[in-house]
Amino acid sequence: AYFLDRTRSLSGEIHACLSVNDNAINRARQLDNRLRGEKPPSPLTGYPLMIKDNLEVRDMPTTCASRILEGYRSLRTATAVSRLLSLGTIILGKTNLDEFAMGSSTENSAFGPTRNPWDPSRVPGGSSGGSAAAVAAGLAPLSLGSDTGGSIRQPAAFCGVIGVKPTYGRISRSGLVAFASSLDQIGPFAVEAEDALEALVAMSGADPLDMTTEGRDPEEMRRDFTQTSLSGLRLGIPAALFGEGLDNSIRERLADVRKGLSFDGVREEEIELAHAAMGINVYYVLATSEAASNLCRFDGVRYGFRAAGSANLREMYEETRDKGFGLEVKRRILLGTFALSAGYQEAFYRKARKVQALIRQEFLDAFSRCDVIMTPTSPTPAFSFGEKTGDPLSMYLSDIYTITANLAGLPALSVPAGVDADGLPVGVHLIGPPWSEGRLLAVAREIS
Ligand code: GLN
Repeated sequence: AYFLDRTRSLSGEIHACLSVNDNAINRARQLDNRLRGEKPPSPLTGYPLMIKDNLEVRDMPTTCASRILEGYRSLRTATAVSRLLSLGTIILGKTNLDEFAMGSSTENSAFGPTRNPWDPSRVPGGSSGGSAAAVAAGLAPLSLGSDTGGSIRQPAAFCGVIGVKPTYGRISRSGLVAFASSLDQIGPFAVEAEDALEALVAMSGADPLDMTTEGRDPEEMRRDFTQTSLSGLRLGIPAALFGEGLDNSIRERLADVRKGLSFDGVREEEIELAHAAMGINVYYVLATSEAASNLCRFDGVRYGFRAAGSANLREMYEETRDKGFGLEVKRRILLGTFALSAGYQEAFYRKARKVQALIRQEFLDAFSRCDVIMTPTSPTPAFSFGEKTGDPLSMYLSDIYTITANLAGLPALSVPAGVDADGLPVGVHLIGPPWSEGRLLAVAREIS
């Protein structure tokens, strides 16, 4: 009841949620009755949970913050969510996002932006801004987001919470509305590293509904989390990424963190990621190509909104998509359609896939010399509303540190490392080799 009241009373101020689950109290009571006197099956039992509104939950709306899904109710529950529900967690509501997870500030939501709880004149980051703000504002101890190119980690940094993007294939994407299927992953936001770990363990594992999942033993994460020792751990520092374009206050906070870790026995290794700088270019070719294809299904026939009064089928498609999609989504569909069109495929899409392979290889090579790579999560702290909306390129650049982990399929997280001179949270970004989430969280626990 405490979290639900808080969610309702802060909804005007922060606007983290697009819908609230009126059934939450009933479910909590039922759980209480069922468990009376018994040991809860998991540390997460009874945990209130917020779910990004591009994850399906049966009988609840799933809007993806888009007009095109207005009125749509989900017929099923995402695998990751149903695994958490089976442990006795309680869904409090569905959180705001950039429309179809396209953006870095939650300003692209068709239902109005979310505000950063640290400073309401600033954005919470995006696209999972609602989920990050919900945990930061104490509306719930745990929430879920999706990360295609930084959408969990960048808002986690802006809101001062932990946010984890797992290894590609760790968590089923079934029931996550697809943006760029080869890059999308679901992951948790939490205040405590332990909570993020429990959520990851619960959600992980093979799922017949998502053929890209792998059947790794999730318990391995818990083992790595307890057994990782900082003494002797090799921390890779890509020095080139700490240069130009990085806010001074962030560089200073990171220097403090590095000093702290070196007291714990962590050794720094300078590494080079020569192709990382191309990550943004590669991402915007691949992600828009996949998005253009994934978003074909929103045609006014199958889901949600349909434009009224069209003369024929073609006109109905056109009007539905014209009225239903926002500006940024249309921009992505156009870019992706262009990149995939005959005559340009070789020049853009195929070339981008080749550079993606180089980026992945470069990371794997680097991990022969270090155990964890550290970068800033974002080049700046949370920016003000409207600051980047007129300039899509500068908005795209706020994901410069996070995007490469998606391109390489690697696990990565953002952990809070105090505040800058203006009192805004700063995030440290840790990237690890495939399946090293437990180790990353062990390092994060020391930092936070
Ligand atoms: N900000 C990036 C984009 O706009 C990443 C989004 C995401 O990870 N979903 O595409």
